Amino acid sequence: MRPEILFPLFAPATSLSGVGPRFAKLFETLTGGPAVLDLCWHLPSGLIDRRYAPPLAEVLPGRIATLTVEIGEHRAAPTRRQPYRIHCHDATGTLELVFFHAHRDYLMKMLPPGQTRVVSGKVEVFNDRLQMTHPDHIAGPAEAASLQTVEPVYPLTAGLTLKTVGKAVQAALQRVSDLPEWQDAALKAREGWPDWHAALAQAHAPREESDLSPLAPARRRLAYDELLANQLAIALVRDRQLKQRGRPLKGDGRLCDKVTAALPFQLTGSQRLALAEIAGDMAAEHRMLRLLQGDVGSGKTVVALLAMLTAVEAGSQAALMAPTEILARQHFNTIAPLARAAGVAIALLTGRDKGKARQAILAGLASGETSLIVGTHALFQDDVAFHDLAMAVIDEQHRFGVHQRLTLTAKGKAVDVLVMTATPIPRTLMLTAYGDMDVSRLTERPPGRQPIETATLPLDRLEEVVAGVERALRQGAQVYWICPLVEESENVDLAAAENRFRALQQPFGERVGLVHGRMKGPEKDTVMARFAAGEIAVLVATTVVEVGVDVPQATVMVIEHAERFGLAQLHQLRGRVGRGSGKSTCLLLWQGPLGETARARLKILRETDDGFRIAEEDLKLRGAGELLGTRQSGLPEFRLADLAVHDDLLAIARDDARLILDRDPELAAERGKALRVLLYLFERDAAVKYLRSG
Ligand code: ADP
Ligand code: MG
Repeated sequence: MRPEILFPLFAPATSLSGVGPRFAKLFETLTGGPAVLDLCWHLPSGLIDRRYAPPLAEVLPGRIATLTVEIGEHRAAPTRRQPYRIHCHDATGTLELVFFHAHRDYLMKMLPPGQTRVVSGKVEVFNDRLQMTHPDHIAGPAEAASLQTVEPVYPLTAGLTLKTVGKAVQAALQRVSDLPEWQDAALKAREGWPDWHAALAQAHAPREESDLSPLAPARRRLAYDELLANQLAIALVRDRQLKQRGRPLKGDGRLCDKVTAALPFQLTGSQRLALAEIAGDMAAEHRMLRLLQGDVGSGKTVVALLAMLTAVEAGSQAALMAPTEILARQHFNTIAPLARAAGVAIALLTGRDKGKARQAILAGLASGETSLIVGTHALFQDDVAFHDLAMAVIDEQHRFGVHQRLTLTAKGKAVDVLVMTATPIPRTLMLTAYGDMDVSRLTERPPGRQPIETATLPLDRLEEVVAGVERALRQGAQVYWICPLVEESENVDLAAAENRFRALQQPFGERVGLVHGRMKGPEKDTVMARFAAGEIAVLVATTVVEVGVDVPQATVMVIEHAERFGLAQLHQLRGRVGRGSGKSTCLLLWQGPLGETARARLKILRETDDGFRIAEEDLKLRGAGELLGTRQSGLPEFRLADLAVHDDLLAIARDDARLILDRDPELAAERGKALRVLLYLFERDAAVKYLRSG
């Protein structure tokens, strides 16, 4: 149950005076939530400083100033198109107030000749005269001091003015009361942080530009609150998970040995290490939750297979789930011959399996006859039942939600989970999503790989690129040609790819193929199979080839409009080549003008192919939210914290959360109780449920 002290903050914005349903809707669009609290979290992005109040002779044009003047003559405009002017002065100089479409009566009342008034707004020079057009504020002389303030400037959305938003935020802040301090006193003192309430007030009342910085103490405190709530919630869930008994799965090595012997290569040191870590987890009493991170081409599939075989050796079943049909098939095609060579029954289940064929697969799983299953989302379906599922490998985690991961593990008893990702998630992001999830990293590449030569070229040199591709083809190369997401519209994308396909048919004829997201599964497979078999030499594709597709003899990657892709995505795409022993090339074609970020991205790609470094740079360039496309990634979105600048706080929050739960696992002590309020404040209600008397 949410504590009563938070009720006013979680009330709808319409509970604020002056906020009706129409504005409330706009505020929700703006802030991302319907509550009073959402307005409180909407921090200013700028400020207007009205403290500058010089005598007229000293005014610097171009600045916002608050000026005390005596009102002189009004000069109505002779025509509607000319402005209405009001002459003003002080002891040192003169100023003209300028109004367009003015109402004389109104202005006479507001700015009566002979009276002193305070006006605040931007001062400019026009025809050698100082003037202020439409002052932001007009007030009597007594109010000069109250006008000489700093006003926060808020991010806006269509239909909202700064005034409306500013007023609503002020009203929202009135609802805020002091909350019990949940932060550690020593940390707070060391960082010079204000109390929560004061921090919120300060964040909304910037005095200087530096107060707007994410590094300002008030903002850092608020960010830390959010990160601590995140880390505490994760730690609670994870403690609970660890307390749930797993079951020790010990293999005897008989299947793994057979498969290892059948491999045409030796495992790398990284692969061996990862396997030892996984085997250790599986043999332990607790449940495994481990991430296997490895750059594209680092050899995760074999590791997954051997891990699954360990479960089979222990007499249970294992499942491998991939995010797309193409990938599931590819995994199956790699794994099945090896599994079968070791005498292990394996099946593939995707959305395409229907009727009797599907029934047969399900029967094999239910009886336990089938030990290994590879599949897509189809594995989640209700009627898929296992005899004894003990281990699940989930490939490309960020395409699945956490919820789906749970759905699969619910199909077995104490299922050990291995998550594989080729997206080198920076450590920072890992922490926010999983806390201290165990990680194995494949840092070593399989031997014999040559680095990929990467070049960037403007798109208007396309003819040279086509000529280069032609030369490569004559030497037997195979080429990927990627057409980008042009807009958020599949149709437009498709048109671009189809046009390129037709254009490349001119020089290359039958040797060009096209694959895109709109094609039906079997159609896609056919094209991919023809490319893999070398019948197609140039494969024009939308980004469907991004994840995991393995055609080792492809050595050229052309990416059109590389400036439109994210770093991680470009890295993934580039990883489609350089998988065999041949020398590979990646051509990044860009169209100018290039923004600073796009330029930086292309530069990083030329410099390195270390996926982890690229991911870190990506985080710096883009901010966490955009990195993986937060919504589909299942990674949390932060309101107040910015991982690109607050990553030091994240590390502190992780340790802090650990320490808190070691000392007070039920959050029952005084600080513990305050921390419960924090969890509710950031809507981590689910985590509180894990506590006794939650
Ligand atoms: P990932 O899934 O990590 O991108 P894969 O598992 O698809 O990588 O492996 C890429 C290629 O490398 C495959 O063709 C695989 O057979 C090969 N491979 C894997 N491990 C090794 C190794 N230790 N030595 C040589 N080649 C390897
Ligand atoms: Mg793979």
